[in-house]
Amino acid sequence: MSVWDGLTGQTAVVEALTAAAGAAALIGGPDGALAAARAGMTHSWLFTGPSGASRADAARAFAAALSCERAAPAAGPPGCGECVGCHTVLTDTAADLRTVRAEGLSLGVQDVRALVRDAASAPTSGRYRILLVEEADRLTDSAANALLKALEEPADRSVFLLCAPSVDDVMPTIRSRCRVVALRLPSVDDLVGALLRDGVDERTAHVAARAAQGHLGRARLLAAAEQARARRAQVVALPGRRGRVGACLAAPADLVGAANADAEAANSERDEAEAEALRTALGVGTTSSGTTGRTKRATKSPPKGKTMMVRGAAGALKDLEKSQKSRGRRTVLDSLDRALLDLAGLYRDVLAHQLGATVDPINPDAAAEVARLAAAATPERTLRRLEAVLATRDTLAGNPGLVAQLAVESLALTLRDA
Ligand SMILES: [Zn+2]
Repeated sequence: MSVWDGLTGQTAVVEALTAAAGAAALIGGPDGALAAARAGMTHSWLFTGPSGASRADAARAFAAALSCERAAPAAGPPGCGECVGCHTVLTDTAADLRTVRAEGLSLGVQDVRALVRDAASAPTSGRYRILLVEEADRLTDSAANALLKALEEPADRSVFLLCAPSVDDVMPTIRSRCRVVALRLPSVDDLVGALLRDGVDERTAHVAARAAQGHLGRARLLAAAEQARARRAQVVALPGRRGRVGACLAAPADLVGAANADAEAANSERDEAEAEALRTALGVGTTSSGTTGRTKRATKSPPKGKTMMVRGAAGALKDLEKSQKSRGRRTVLDSLDRALLDLAGLYRDVLAHQLGATVDPINPDAAAEVARLAAAATPERTLRRLEAVLATRDTLAGNPGLVAQLAVESLALTLRDA
């Protein structure tokens, strides 16, 4: 097993990264820095690729290879996946690795400042201090500027690994400082191979791989989770529920409701645990009655320090609530986006059927529904519907709440009338 095993269909990228990590291992030896630079080793990297291309996985595998303890020329290529260096990076417990993820819709300047401070200190055990930003496209302007300063004057032993959907998603000034690693979407065959290696049966592997449209994580989910399959079947059945306006609006309500349920399931336990931990840390009581009691007493006879503590605690809890809300909105949007992608895949199949194109269907399991929809409309109408679905995806990006609800409802009516 090596750290590269999880990177499905990325042979060229793995070769380039292995070469760079191998050269980086020479650092410290005679002319090591020169040799490393020649093999393309550099301080800042930008991993790009569409959702599903595992850019964060690629960045993490590279981080592991840079930390691999068996990375000597005699011991084979770096990234054994078994040594302490590889293992701690892969499990996100390495002392020299700091990972930043956007919990909400954006990545703020505070997170980046902490990262930049880390980058300035020498590595504790590994060769490099590695700073991994999983969603560099979500950096706020001030966060991006703080990062840019660090990239302009990199510390000797620091490596920044940024991930974004495309080079256009980060500031040009940041992009120009980075070596770009472009990942491609794995093919259906790549995905089938990965699922078969997971032990999924042949038929399920083929159905899931096609439906996942290049997204390995989603393919695994489709193959494994009966619930995900049922949800997709529900979405694929949506166009069949056309008719009166009322019926049309019930379907998107289901869709948005399901997305909200997804978010609730994913976040509620975690939200409560975080709030509880914060309340305990601030000493404001762990039950609601306890909190009220203490606050009341503090109001009655306010010793100065105590009042400030309670105010500070309230502010911290409010901040936490705000970031949790932001995370929840994002989960809803992600869930809706997946559903719309399924719907777009269905209309693509309908269009292919109508045009007699000999391409593999995305939804081989929905052949009957595809044939029925194909017979009921012209290719032009199908194309209009497909475009409406894709336009709704664009509208939804970054627009949670009521806008999402209205956009999905308006889509349902367009699909009926287009
Ligand atoms: Zn290793």
